[in-house]
Amino acid sequence: MAESHIDRPGMHTNYDIVIVGGGMVGAALALALARGQVTQGQPLRILVFEALALPQTATQPLQPSYDARSTALSLGTRHLFEYLGVWPGLAAQASPIGHIEVSDRGHLGTARLDAVKERVPALGYVVENRSLGQALLAPLEHEAVTFCCPAEVVAAQAIPAGMRIEYEYQGESHCCDSRLLVIADGGRSGLREQLQISTVETPYQQCAVVANLSLDRPHNHTAYERFTDTGPMALLPLTHDEQGRARSALVWSVPLEQADELLGAEDAVFMQRLQDSFGYRAGRFVAVGERHGYPLKRVLASEQVRTGLVVLGNAAHALHPVAGQGFNLALRGAMVLAQELLQAQAERRDIGALETLQRFQSQLHWDQTKTIGFSDRVTQLFSSPATTQVFARHLGLLGLELFAPLKHVFAQSAMGLDMPLPAQGRSGSV
Ligand SMILES: Cc1cc2nc3c(=O)[nH]c(=O)nc-3n(C[C@H](O)[C@H](O)[C@H](O)COP(=O)(O)OP(=O)(O)OC[C@H]3O[C@@H](n4cnc5c(N)ncnc54)[C@H](O)[C@@H]3O)c2cc1C
Repeated sequence: MAESHIDRPGMHTNYDIVIVGGGMVGAALALALARGQVTQGQPLRILVFEALALPQTATQPLQPSYDARSTALSLGTRHLFEYLGVWPGLAAQASPIGHIEVSDRGHLGTARLDAVKERVPALGYVVENRSLGQALLAPLEHEAVTFCCPAEVVAAQAIPAGMRIEYEYQGESHCCDSRLLVIADGGRSGLREQLQISTVETPYQQCAVVANLSLDRPHNHTAYERFTDTGPMALLPLTHDEQGRARSALVWSVPLEQADELLGAEDAVFMQRLQDSFGYRAGRFVAVGERHGYPLKRVLASEQVRTGLVVLGNAAHALHPVAGQGFNLALRGAMVLAQELLQAQAERRDIGALETLQRFQSQLHWDQTKTIGFSDRVTQLFSSPATTQVFARHLGLLGLELFAPLKHVFAQSAMGLDMPLPAQGRSGSV
């Protein structure tokens, strides 16, 4: 983002909405609010704080949302991105998922999903987070959103008119007031803790080892979900590398005690270990990029709204990545929140009122319950070597493969199409 866009704080000390965290979720919310109010009149004064400097070059370190990972976007997310106007800029970097193969290493039984059979252009898309960052942040430059970066919010407290926010910018402490504060500062949210919002944490005792790999044959837009003796593994189709070779993004869940060794291994050793675990159904791995490790735990905030306050994205719910649902769920939440706030603003209601925010939360309740439950069940079922779980897994895969209506229901769920889209996303054409 251009330096010129970074307004000096102090220009406005009062805002309508302050978003803490310019990651994928905070940026998407800011964009939805800014784009939505074009037709609604009554401009909202919106400020986004981001603690880490945005990278200006490809070699600079990246902030959490825009790091070396890739994200599997559901088809429903594509519709929402179309509504936000970011899809045209992202489409060239998005690798469509034409097929999904779910299998269990060392056991018979593979369930296959196919975009053509489901009558959709793709079952989903895989995009590198770096590209997602550009697609979400660049359009904000043209919107009436103040982006304050790098600036760290250090504390917040309730005041009669909303929330008072304290932050550090260029070595100095400042504060501003806002009618509504949205906490979108990620899974290890410091602000959530400072405001004494407790969490329920479930450590998975696993680490996600993430890397991009080149293959010796075309991936044919196939995504693999493979259940190995170490834990679940996803291999997702990416766009080609510079040499025109097929590339895939790996998310390999391994027991915590194995992670360091895999992260530090020589490339050739790592690829051999992966090949031994994954097998050869995607071909041979011929090159591997940087590896990163993410210790995995489910974190659920016990409160998501208070008067003048919303907790959003990973700060509200951090999930196991195996089902690829975390961002997709959070984006639906951001869109519902934007819709609710814009409506309140248009009707001259208080955007920080508890009843407005509770309406937002109740709209999300079923989606969150179902999506979090689905992620959890998949994780438990596919991480356990216990005989009963292995048996249940095979029965599930077999049932999925043989019973077409069940497969369709599963596909709709994986594509994020079984949830009513927020109103803004419904017009998105495929
Ligand atoms: C290995 C892995 C793979 C995944 N794959 C998928 C997938 O395929 N599909 C999917 O849907 N989801 C996936 N997810 C989940 C997805 O990455 C998260 O849901 C998403 O990154 C959440 O974004 P966020 O903006 O809420 O949080 P973050 O990405 O953590 O962003 C928070 C931002 O807030 C900033 N910040 C923090 N504190 C402050 C402060 N005090 N002041 C100002 N700024 C602050 C941070 O610098 C950061 O930029 C995956 C997760 C992992 C770990």
